Amino acid sequence: MFNIYKKIGWFIKQEWKTYLLMFTLLTLIALLALTPAYVLGIAIDVIVSKSLNWTSFAFLITALILIPVARYLSSYFYNYTVNKTSQKLAFTFRKNYLKKLFDMDAEFYEKYQKGDLISRATADLDMITVAATSMIEGMIFNIGMILIAISIMAITISWELTLISVTIMPIGITILNIIRMKKREYVKKHRVIYAAMTEKILESVEGQKTIRAYVQEENDLKEQKRVIVNDIESWRYIINYENRLAPMFESVYAIAYILAFVFGALFIMQQQMTVGQLVIFISYIGILYGPIISISGVFQQINNATVAVDRFDEIMKTEPDVKDDEIPDHILDFKEIEFRDVTFKYPFDEQPTINQINLTVKKGQTIGVVGPTGSGKSTLIRQLLREFNVTSGHIYIDGKNIKKYKIEDIRKIVGYVPQSHMLFRRGVDDNILIGNPQATIDQLNRAIKIADFEKDIHYLNAGLQTKVGEGGATLSGGQKQRLSIARALVKEPEILILDDSLSAVDANTEETILEQLKKFRTGKTNIIVAHRFSAIRDADLIIVMDQGKIIERGTHEELTKIDGWYKTQYIQQMSMK
Ligand code: ADP
Repeated sequence: MFNIYKKIGWFIKQEWKTYLLMFTLLTLIALLALTPAYVLGIAIDVIVSKSLNWTSFAFLITALILIPVARYLSSYFYNYTVNKTSQKLAFTFRKNYLKKLFDMDAEFYEKYQKGDLISRATADLDMITVAATSMIEGMIFNIGMILIAISIMAITISWELTLISVTIMPIGITILNIIRMKKREYVKKHRVIYAAMTEKILESVEGQKTIRAYVQEENDLKEQKRVIVNDIESWRYIINYENRLAPMFESVYAIAYILAFVFGALFIMQQQMTVGQLVIFISYIGILYGPIISISGVFQQINNATVAVDRFDEIMKTEPDVKDDEIPDHILDFKEIEFRDVTFKYPFDEQPTINQINLTVKKGQTIGVVGPTGSGKSTLIRQLLREFNVTSGHIYIDGKNIKKYKIEDIRKIVGYVPQSHMLFRRGVDDNILIGNPQATIDQLNRAIKIADFEKDIHYLNAGLQTKVGEGGATLSGGQKQRLSIARALVKEPEILILDDSLSAVDANTEETILEQLKKFRTGKTNIIVAHRFSAIRDADLIIVMDQGKIIERGTHEELTKIDGWYKTQYIQQMSMK
């Protein structure tokens, strides 16, 4: 409970006026809830003593009508304020969480699955906000109501009867709540199972085309069923646990009721109490039931929220390994990149994927990277995106370690076209402008021209404004590739990286793009990973990768003169033409 308070304490401080208003409204609601039974008790005694007249009758009726109206209004304003406040808290939490996700590095995304991260931002966060607001209602209101009711019972009716019947309640309920603490373990397990279910649903929705194409619906449904059944069973276990416990709370209350009735009747027989007083007393025990059950419910919410807070906090406390230096340097005038003995191993792999790489790339050069699939080409060039830290060795930009530079600066000078294209549900133009939202129309048109995307525009029904369907559904594979190239080009990057980005375009288009790159990117650096030799033949330097190492390097002319992988593959490709 205090854990949650620590997490939201700042929010209560910031919103103290709203919390004060909620507190005042709750006090009012509590008082109004306790009044009707009292008025009724007085009425019974007035009737029994035969002293009822028209004035007191009118007064009693008016009070009994006005009290519920006032209670309705206070409850309305209270609920309105609570909802608004909890939405505000959820908004703040979610905003900070999403910001954190953007700060995290690639290793983090290897560790946590999408479904897990989503469930932390949705279900877990909901539990926290509900607990944060219901905590004051649950604790302050209910405890306040219980204390006021008990005081009225003890002071105005009978302290002996209060002692006899009410003492059982806090004792019984505390014991039951201690037993309930055990549920936290089950809730924790359930949160993990729930995250796995979210992950599976996400995978099925994202992969529905592939699943249908391979007629895997049955298998996928089986898998879905498995995670859903897991979720239901785990939840059922928690509910059963709760169901076994909940009636015990009612038994505590029932005992209090019986004690009040038996001893109350005795006190009336001994003329220590009137009938009206016993009616008030028993009504108040009835009134106590609500707050007592609510407090138990709040304990349950706090229990769940404690687990959610831990899960949420785990993410908020994670620090990325790849982060800016305290006083980062800026790249003023890019001249050269140097890989010195660079080795890199993916966080959950045993062996390094690239090994002892030495390579210098100078401004204005075009570098070709070739080699068998899985040889580490992509891994090597992605080191320039600062997704991970290298395992050993160093990468230097203009003689200074890449780690010293502001990450944003590095990403600004690099235009990376990945192998898989992420397109957003926006217009084609907006998808390109993600590369540089400030680009002028001229810059946009130039990028489209270099990427040879111009010819596609008039096939699109609304030209550049055509909305791209989810996952780029309205565009062909080649068009998506060219759009991605235009996106990288619109920022006019110092270093353009085409990571096998010309694979889905035909030979003519490839030639046009390469010519345009030459024409418009003089003095800029290009790194081209390719399978087709035509894409890299004119490069200033070609490196051949195999099993994470550079096994050959040189120009096309040089490499075709030595007997090696390049020459063999080149001859093979030429003979297939
Ligand atoms: P290439 O671009 O030459 O085809 P990659 O650099 O994409 O090769 O991959 C090289 C090796 O690294 C492959 O064996 C691949 O399975 C592995 N790999 C790629 N990405 C990851 C990753 N995120 N985690 C673990 N291994 C990876």
